[in-house]
Amino acid sequence: MQEQILGHSLADPKKRKSFREDLLAWYDENQRKLPWRSKPSLYKTVVSEFMLQQTRVSTVVPYFERWVKQFPDFSALANAPEEQVLKAWEGLGYYSRARNLSKLAKEVASWEDVPEDPEAWQSLPGIGPYVAAAVTSISFGRPEAVCDGNVVRVLTRLFACDEPFKDGATAQKKLRPLARKLLDTDRPGDYNQAIMELGATVCHRQSPHCPTCPAIDYCKGAKAGDAQRYPNLIRKKKSKQRVPRYWIESKNGLLLYSAANGSARLAGIYELPENLPVELKDLARDAKHLATKKRTIGQVDYEEEIFRAEMIPGSKQKVALPEGYRWVGQSDLNTVTLSGPHRKWIGEIRNQV
Ligand code: SF4
Repeated sequence: MQEQILGHSLADPKKRKSFREDLLAWYDENQRKLPWRSKPSLYKTVVSEFMLQQTRVSTVVPYFERWVKQFPDFSALANAPEEQVLKAWEGLGYYSRARNLSKLAKEVASWEDVPEDPEAWQSLPGIGPYVAAAVTSISFGRPEAVCDGNVVRVLTRLFACDEPFKDGATAQKKLRPLARKLLDTDRPGDYNQAIMELGATVCHRQSPHCPTCPAIDYCKGAKAGDAQRYPNLIRKKKSKQRVPRYWIESKNGLLLYSAANGSARLAGIYELPENLPVELKDLARDAKHLATKKRTIGQVDYEEEIFRAEMIPGSKQKVALPEGYRWVGQSDLNTVTLSGPHRKWIGEIRNQV
């Protein structure tokens, strides 16, 4: 990386200055109107940064708007039961973000003074180097550079960096010193948002709009006409997994399961059960295939085969279900928190059975 910087026009401090000016002028003119940018606050910045991790802006906007109405500040969020917080997050996925945000709100609500340095923020629940840099640069003007997937794409193209990275996190770590070198320390929050905005709206993964890009004069990748080849992330092999799911209805509703508490990925989130409780195990024998649904989580492609089993009328409906299982009536389906795919599939199957 060091050699690439040395041979690049941006090794010259004057060029770096004009690069920052061009990028910020473009941002001032072209930034998207986003709800967390109007009347910004520390709370709005934190919530938006948590939601935006691994999730597109267009998906986040309606969630964010509902969220700040329901939980307008840190103390409202701190006082909300976890169940309510997870329900408001339903469909955004990666639910540990919601749990951490709730824990973070409790900490912030107990502070007398809000720390402004990125290291202090990094010790808080769910905050890594990216969120710490984003929050402290945007809210407190701290000169800390963000380095997320968008920034990695822009930087590797600007410098024609073809170093192979084993994954996105490694690329972000390696490129962070370069991101710091380019940062505009007079307007760090705006600069960070500008370079991420450039990655999101101009320097697209597949077809970057180089002719309209404010960084084209500094971009080695664009000059060579092969910008798309950066960053050089080593493709991970995906694996496949089949998971059985059971669709069982009683007069009390549809059987759902949620890992009750703790750190399980889907703790508190309901899905069709993968295993039947001992009391209902016999039903699996005669279960009939109803549908096969697909979803991808990380590097795993899941095929979830849904089997329908019939309750013997009246016989086992009074069985006390073990922890985590519950019957959910049609009218209560909207009040429990379901994983996004399972809510969709349940709706689809309801229409077909
Ligand atoms: Fe990306 Fe093209 Fe801009 Fe370079 S010139 S940063 S490749 S959009």
